[in-house]
Amino acid sequence: RGLSVGVDIGGTKIAAGVVDVHGRILAEARSPTPGQDPRAVEAVVTELVRELSREYRVRSIGIGAAGWMDLSNSTVLFSPHLAWRNEPVRRNLEKLLRRRVTVVNDADAAAWAEWRFGAGRGESRLVCVTLGTGIGGAMIMGGRVERGRYGVAGEFGHQIIVPQGQRCECGNRGCWEQYASGNALGREARELAAAQSPVAQAIIDAAAADDGVITGSLVTRLAMDGDPTSRELVDDVGQWLGLGLANLAAAVDPGTFVIGGGLSAAGDLLLEPTRRAFGRNLTGRGFRPVARIERAALGPAAGLIGAADLSRLLSRSGT
Ligand code: BGC
Ligand code: ZN
Repeated sequence: RGLSVGVDIGGTKIAAGVVDVHGRILAEARSPTPGQDPRAVEAVVTELVRELSREYRVRSIGIGAAGWMDLSNSTVLFSPHLAWRNEPVRRNLEKLLRRRVTVVNDADAAAWAEWRFGAGRGESRLVCVTLGTGIGGAMIMGGRVERGRYGVAGEFGHQIIVPQGQRCECGNRGCWEQYASGNALGREARELAAAQSPVAQAIIDAAAADDGVITGSLVTRLAMDGDPTSRELVDDVGQWLGLGLANLAAAVDPGTFVIGGGLSAAGDLLLEPTRRAFGRNLTGRGFRPVARIERAALGPAAGLIGAADLSRLLSRSGT
């Protein structure tokens, strides 16, 4: 009873699961995100939802999408990592699935899950940051997702942190997600490998033993296994992360930051440098309370859990 399907559409993979009212996952299915074609993404989502709802009776379907949702949760206005430009995602999926679906931003979904069931429980002012292909951001205030006037609040990944810095898919330069995401970690490691640096040998070997590609998740894994260079790269990302969080504290003043997404698997290898850089850059430091910085308790599944839970609540309230 009370089961929902949640789907998390990211820039790299699409993850789906059957979720109960306590946020527990009963079954999961996933697939790589097909590039550059909205129809192909819809087809994969449809297939995953059908597969899961063959075995379980589900009452609602929630989609967390890596894009900017309009306030009515119907249209993805823009997505830096997917081919969505003013895309009526809700209508398209409802046609394909012949059922009502709820569509929300992926980071909003993850933040909701962490607030309901995870590391953000009980926090009256929560900021959640997810580190994946890009950086997702969301705020839960007074028990509600704060979406801004037009639905696109919390796009923290696109705060410009380095003027004239790395080019971003959003069109600007120097966005935070070019320095503190899984993609950023992969890019730094690839540069090191391309320079043929001897310190990159473990990374080069691990990629060769795998599919030859150096990604953020590969470097995260190597860091956890103890490779010193990978640890340095994760440490660098942590420092960028802490700097951006200090900016957010100045603007939003939350009690807790929850850090999720694939890169958060690195745990304290990431969060210790993050806390240090946060403390060093926090305005008014020494004279103000300091927000907690916690790792997401639900891990990378937070997005699909939150999408499922929100679909249950929103379909009940009829919005
Ligand atoms: C997008 C966000 C999304 C995030 C994580 C960013 O580039 O602008 O909407 O939540 O990536 O997927
Ligand atoms: Zn950007």
